[in-house]
Amino acid sequence: MTLYLMINPFANFRKQLERDKGWRKIPQDLREKLRKPDRVLRFKIPVKMDDGRRREWEGFRVQYNQWRGPYKGGIRFHPGVNLEELKALAGWMMVKCGVVDIPFGGAKGGVVVNPKELSGGELERLARGYVRKVAEFIGPEKDVPAPDVGTDSRVMDWMVDEFCKIKNEKLKTKNEDCLATFTGKSVENGGSEGRREATGLGGNYILESLVEKLKLGRPTIAIQGFGNVGYHFALFAQKRGYQVVAVSDSRGAIIINSKLKTKNLNLACRQAGLQRKTQSLNIEEIKTWKKKTGSVINFPGTKNITNGELLELPVDILVPAALENVITKDNAQKIKAKVILEMANGPTTPEADEILKRRQVILVPDILANAGGVVTSYFEWCQNKKNEHWKKEKVYQQLKNLMTAAFEGAWQMSLKKGVDLRTAAYIVAVKRLAESEFEK
Ligand code: NAD
Repeated sequence: MTLYLMINPFANFRKQLERDKGWRKIPQDLREKLRKPDRVLRFKIPVKMDDGRRREWEGFRVQYNQWRGPYKGGIRFHPGVNLEELKALAGWMMVKCGVVDIPFGGAKGGVVVNPKELSGGELERLARGYVRKVAEFIGPEKDVPAPDVGTDSRVMDWMVDEFCKIKNEKLKTKNEDCLATFTGKSVENGGSEGRREATGLGGNYILESLVEKLKLGRPTIAIQGFGNVGYHFALFAQKRGYQVVAVSDSRGAIIINSKLKTKNLNLACRQAGLQRKTQSLNIEEIKTWKKKTGSVINFPGTKNITNGELLELPVDILVPAALENVITKDNAQKIKAKVILEMANGPTTPEADEILKRRQVILVPDILANAGGVVTSYFEWCQNKKNEHWKKEKVYQQLKNLMTAAFEGAWQMSLKKGVDLRTAAYIVAVKRLAESEFEK
């Protein structure tokens, strides 16, 4: 069994929640409520397959907390989906919404399925079947699902359509209410501009603030994962002039071949009459290469390394943007980056966290770094409720405002309490959660 499966993410979440000594000052009844989800739905989804057989898939929806607003969180279609993982992801959503101060609680859903093994028709029937099981528990003021690993805007469009059918039949609800029940929809179907790139872009706004605080100039960056989050993060970082020197996917990692690139870049810049300022992988070209070959590895002008080696590179900033539990007590000692920016959910185990803290590595936690997706989901929800459509520039500006303010809030709390940024972010979020419940 791999390490990834052995570590219980919900146990990790609870450890993080309780890590600050201020936790004990919260009234016990509130602490108890924050330690477990409000509701767990578990059900079977029957689906007619293309060959006429009927198969049943196991589905879940975890509604964690709604003190600050409706439950909010994605729906994951993945063979590894399990309840402990969903509970942790739902709890992290609750804390994340608190850190960035948006009026949502936490939730997460999932189906134990490999969506790549289904035809388009089977996937659509599964998505619609999922909605029929949860319809009475979701709504714009109750619970607002979104895409997650294995689901996308196409799946959300099917889900919203199914939900509208059910509600129009039963409740005659307005269409805006149906649209505002799901976020991450396609733009043609009420989705927000900028949602696709929002998590990577949001992480870049945090990175920008951090680079300024630490006076890192044009930092070198290594990124694990080249999916939605990793790719967009890398692209915006490169556009900012930062030096993205290594990226990876599930098949391996690549590192910039400095000699070759320097020579080429110097020559190209001299010819263009420019002074060379940065040395970075070309992210757009790597994307095209991955599309053609199925992986980032073997990209011309780079050297292949392993994902393990990528984590231990002597870069300024390390960005895990793929999986949970990749930084553990076994490799935390060997990490050479000055800063870790957690774009994946839960990439660092609590034991590794302690080691990194002792080694004074600055760690920007997932609940802050990757909140750009849910912030833009919030914008989508607002637009749907008011029947508006914002331009991309407005979405980007509002995203920057919220992410920068959230970073500043956590940074100041960390200075005030003399704690690391993860603890500071939890303090900010838990304080907001407790106050919202206390005031009722
Ligand atoms: P994705 O499926 O689009 O991409 C995942 C990437 O990780 C792929 O490039 C894949 O090849 C790579 N990968 C898989 N196994 C790997 C391994 N062993 N080593 C290195 N790379 C590996 O997923 P995503 O949407 O980019 O999400 C990535 C992470 O970010 C997840 O933890 C997710 O929960 C988190 N996240 C995503 C969003 C979002 O808006 N998509 C928001 C918040 C957090």
